[in-house]
Amino acid sequence: MNLGNKKPGKRPLYVYYIIAAVVIFLLNFLVLPSIQEGSIITTDYSTFLSNVERGNVSEATVDGDYIYYQASQDGREVQCKTVAMDDPNLVERLRQAGVKMSETAPERQSIILTLILSYLIPIAIFILLGRWLSKKMMSSMGDAPGGMMSFGKSNAKVYVKSTSGIKFSDVAGEDEAKELLTEIVDYLHNPHKYAEIGASMPKGALLVGPPGTGKTLLAKAVAGEAEVPFFSISGSEFVEMFVGMGAAKVRDLFKQANDKAPCIVFIDEIDTIGKKRDGAGFTGGNDEREQTLNQLLTEMDGFDGSKGVVILAATNRPDSLDPALLRPGRFDRRIPVELPDLQGREEILKVHAKKIKIADSVRFDEIAKAAAGASGAELANIVNEAALRAVRDGRKFATQADFEESIEVVIAGYQKKNRVLSNKEKLIVSYHEIGHALVAAKQTDSAPVHKITIIPRTSGALGYTMQVDEKEHFLMSKEELENKIATFTGGRAAEELIFHTITTGASNDIEQATKIARAMISRYGMSDEFDMVAMENVTNQYLGGDASLACSFETQTILDKKVVDLVSTQHQKALKILQDNIGKLHELAKYLYEHETITGEEFMRILETPEGEIG
Ligand code: ADP
Ligand code: MG
Ligand code: ZN
Repeated sequence: MNLGNKKPGKRPLYVYYIIAAVVIFLLNFLVLPSIQEGSIITTDYSTFLSNVERGNVSEATVDGDYIYYQASQDGREVQCKTVAMDDPNLVERLRQAGVKMSETAPERQSIILTLILSYLIPIAIFILLGRWLSKKMMSSMGDAPGGMMSFGKSNAKVYVKSTSGIKFSDVAGEDEAKELLTEIVDYLHNPHKYAEIGASMPKGALLVGPPGTGKTLLAKAVAGEAEVPFFSISGSEFVEMFVGMGAAKVRDLFKQANDKAPCIVFIDEIDTIGKKRDGAGFTGGNDEREQTLNQLLTEMDGFDGSKGVVILAATNRPDSLDPALLRPGRFDRRIPVELPDLQGREEILKVHAKKIKIADSVRFDEIAKAAAGASGAELANIVNEAALRAVRDGRKFATQADFEESIEVVIAGYQKKNRVLSNKEKLIVSYHEIGHALVAAKQTDSAPVHKITIIPRTSGALGYTMQVDEKEHFLMSKEELENKIATFTGGRAAEELIFHTITTGASNDIEQATKIARAMISRYGMSDEFDMVAMENVTNQYLGGDASLACSFETQTILDKKVVDLVSTQHQKALKILQDNIGKLHELAKYLYEHETITGEEFMRILETPEGEIG
């Protein structure tokens, strides 16, 4: 929870300026003239003359266009003024009437007052207003991240135990990561226990793993479990418009943390600021990021580990981090947060299924099996999709079928019932998909199919074959990989065999097959030529993996040739398998064409009955 609460109804700056302007306007036009002239009666020239003749005027002063004079009216002296006329006899007249002609106007002393009112008071008002505004802004710096003066202030949110709500029990699987983090929490609670032996906690721990595996969730759980302040900030929040501001934010964050120790600082997506620095620095455009990173390194060094400030960070691109960040004394503990295994997936599904109503018959182990390779975030999504589907169909509970459908939705996109394939297309897709499945089933080590469908998906796939491994694999043999390639080529092979032509439907298969074949040769050392020499280096392993070539141009040519050989050998193998089972191919494709979906059991039943027994 965000502790710094915003003051409600804060008005924008310009409102104050408008108020000031209006006040000054009023002063000038209403108050000042009346103070200056309120006691002066304006008379016309003839009144002035008659007053002079009657001897009522005792004193007169000519001041530019005006004549100021003092006249006695009803026994009272009043200040009057009149417009001076071009009157050559005026002086003579005044002299005759015995009027005292003074040099200065009787009200001259009020000029000082005028000066004060029209210059000094507005200036004073401005100064006071300015001081008040700046004071207001100073005080609002803490809780207004976007405020004018808040550059350089970190907007780290402070979490406290009771408000975060997320506990380690909300994070399923990831036992290793939880164990390592529990130790840190324990250290913050009982530092003396560790001090007795002389052990000191690592200053920083880095959570690394693919997106959606629960890194941010784990950090929040730490916040929920630890009874110490928890500062959370995302790396991108350090990226500022002005050079030096990011660094200032880092400074501020660590200053706050030092004041609140023992506490935990969590920097999410640290790769935004922690990227490797350029060696040469030709670009010059990375000054800001580099300064921020340098500041972070400095702050981490300057930390007294025994004070009890632990820095957690998360990234899915550990290989892009600056090595200086990873050296001992900084993020020296690495906590892997990997994709969940079969059991982990089941647990994650169960954690999220607690939030929805499900039928008793739902078998989570089956769903977990079918969702191989899904991340925690995808599994959470699968559960939610299942609930949505149940609502859409007007049911009160999510059923097994809902879950199975939602796996397909999350993995392959929504069913697109209104996209109609022509009959010819439907037939081709049927043969294509059965081609994959048949090749897979006929190869000993290949996983049996789970479900085949030719209902188009929003993702663009026209049909799709879902394979489910019975057991989880951690190692893949060369043969298994080859079989996989053969399975990918099976779709195209069926098209060739039956229609004697080829379509664009195999583009994804081609991509997959090439990827596997290339990796086998360049990375897994599965060719005679290259033995155990890596031809490619993989970066970004958690984000799909970009391979960069690490071999000479000549070797690259050979490598490409080997990849082509490997794929085409498997393609021939697939063609042969289909040729040998052409009766089954026809039978299964016809069934799929008619039913649009075929389950693993139906498929195996048809495959295992001798030909001709099923109609
Ligand atoms: P990351 O930060 O690793 O990219 P997140 O922590 O943001 O991933 O995870 C996104 C969502 O996925 C979480 O909010 C949670 O609902 C779900 N999730 C991910 N991993 C798990 C897990 N191990 N247990 C339960 N839920 C998980
Ligand atoms: Mg995250
Ligand atoms: Zn295909």
